[in-house]
Amino acid sequence: MDDIIKYRHNIDEIDKQLVELISQRINLSKKIISSKLESGNDVNSPEREDNIFQKFSNDKFNYKLNSIFKEILKVSKYEFLPDTSLQDILKFRPIIIAGPCAVENESQISTISSELNEIGIRLLRGGSYKPRTSPDDFQGLGSDGVKLLSKYAKKNKMYSVTELLDEDQLRKHYNDVDIIQIGSRNMTNYAFLKEVGKMTSNDGKPVILKRGFSATLNEFINAAKYISIQGNPNIILALRGIRTFEQIDSEMRNTPDLAAILELKNKTDFPVIFDPSHSTGDRKYVIEISKAAIEIGADGIIIETHNEPDKALVDGKQSITPNELKKIFNFL
Ligand code: PEP
Ligand code: MN
Repeated sequence: MDDIIKYRHNIDEIDKQLVELISQRINLSKKIISSKLESGNDVNSPEREDNIFQKFSNDKFNYKLNSIFKEILKVSKYEFLPDTSLQDILKFRPIIIAGPCAVENESQISTISSELNEIGIRLLRGGSYKPRTSPDDFQGLGSDGVKLLSKYAKKNKMYSVTELLDEDQLRKHYNDVDIIQIGSRNMTNYAFLKEVGKMTSNDGKPVILKRGFSATLNEFINAAKYISIQGNPNIILALRGIRTFEQIDSEMRNTPDLAAILELKNKTDFPVIFDPSHSTGDRKYVIEISKAAIEIGADGIIIETHNEPDKALVDGKQSITPNELKKIFNFL
């Protein structure tokens, strides 16, 4: 028993030193990131990061150390996101896009954007032109919604992400939207894809292209090429679940197409993000599916988040609160 007490004492001492060393390590990383930002350099150094990770990936124990280094890097970089450009934010992994399915009114978007800002989210989603299955359902606030999203994104030093459905909307709202989302139902609207490509080729505005819910992966990749071929390489592929025979009796709104992350990462250079909300349709699955997506290599997630999910006008069942979002990412 005496021995155990002694060992435990030693362990406590070592743990204290470890925590101290890790925090020194984080501070040094932060100093490097800060001077890179000051001199306008890219915050990422993929080669050096890979070298560090490689050193610790030889056996099982070292593999775990490797993930500690990855966490250190995430924590170090994350703190700087509020002061970085959209371009730099999109280089951070995982990319996290959160916000309500729809902008409902000013008080809702004001509340949810500031709650998300408090946990460090920089990319704010919110739909205003909602492609609803039934014409009787809430269709979104249209133009007013885009303006509200943009207002509260700016107020919180965030960037806005919203779906635009056609060329008119694209022209009308181009300057209000930081990242254009093309929805699942529009993935094969080739004339629109070409137009988005042409318009964004001047400034390289990022475009999130969602997978058609019955599109094959090659059709999805080709749709992305329709945009990029016009001169904008900044396309982000978003997997959002597909419709399969499972939907005959599954609880899931769609079948989460997780394996497609692996194949898309092999076949394209575009970042691949995952939408756990539309792919499951149910908040009780959203957290686990998000973790799985990140674990197998997704570059990020786009996730529906509401201050009062049970009162949401659209997709409340699949929405989570900012507090629940924190459970997915331990560095938030
Ligand atoms: C959305 O993200 O709000 C949306 C409507 O998604 P999807 O186009 O994937 O259905
Ligand atoms: Mn939705």
